[in-house]
Amino acid sequence: MQNIGADVFLWLFKAELQPPLATAQPEVWQYDLAIGNPQLETEMKAVILLSGGLDSSTILYQAKADGCECHAISFDYQQRHRRELRAALFVAQKAGVVKHQVVNFDLRQWGGSALTDDGIDLPKERSLDEMSQNIPVTYVPARNTIFLSFALAYSETISAERVYIGVNALDYSGYPDCRPDYIQAMQEVFQLGTKQGREGKPITIIAPLINLKKTEIIQLGNQLGVPWELTWSCYAGADVACGVCDSCRLRLAAFTELGLKDLLPYAQ
Ligand SMILES: [Zn+2]
Repeated sequence: MQNIGADVFLWLFKAELQPPLATAQPEVWQYDLAIGNPQLETEMKAVILLSGGLDSSTILYQAKADGCECHAISFDYQQRHRRELRAALFVAQKAGVVKHQVVNFDLRQWGGSALTDDGIDLPKERSLDEMSQNIPVTYVPARNTIFLSFALAYSETISAERVYIGVNALDYSGYPDCRPDYIQAMQEVFQLGTKQGREGKPITIIAPLINLKKTEIIQLGNQLGVPWELTWSCYAGADVACGVCDSCRLRLAAFTELGLKDLLPYAQ
């Protein structure tokens, strides 16, 4: 049996308060809230892709409302905005998930996105119109295929029935892996690429936000009680949201359109 050193134990203990984002991490970071919360376990297990942003936090609360036993999964891929993982931790804790895991891998090895390559500038101060023109440089090559593959493997391991993903085709991003035809194709992969699927118990992808506007997502989240102040959307990678990257601007525009105040502090 592997011996767990005192420093690792201490680190795990502290992890409940704050993930150690700036230090070396083991392959998979996780904490287990099942201890002391057996009442959270239900018949239907769901894996929720949780980045810590508005959309993924909303689908976590949707999965809860749907009566699922929620297993959240987040990804530390050395993204510029790793600050979002702290938000994911706080939201997962607030929602009372059964388990939250952070999987580590390094997409900076080849970069190719403003989120994984410091040599590519983050677009700033763009209008919603400008954002809708092209697939932006914040697109991370095949990111959702990577994420869904991890989620699928994890789901089959724990015999989950559902994977929740907060993709949205209308948020001006134009990301190819956020579109309905892509999700449909991945559903086929889920069906054909797993033992569970071949044996007649396929894992279903649930993407309830795919055709919603950002304002509608916030309205849904309000109904579900999503703690917006714990979420994180900014791409810029600082401790305070920048207010001018595409993600901040979309978020702020939606709150403003609804006549609501975003309680998150902004640099500008
Ligand atoms: Zn920002």
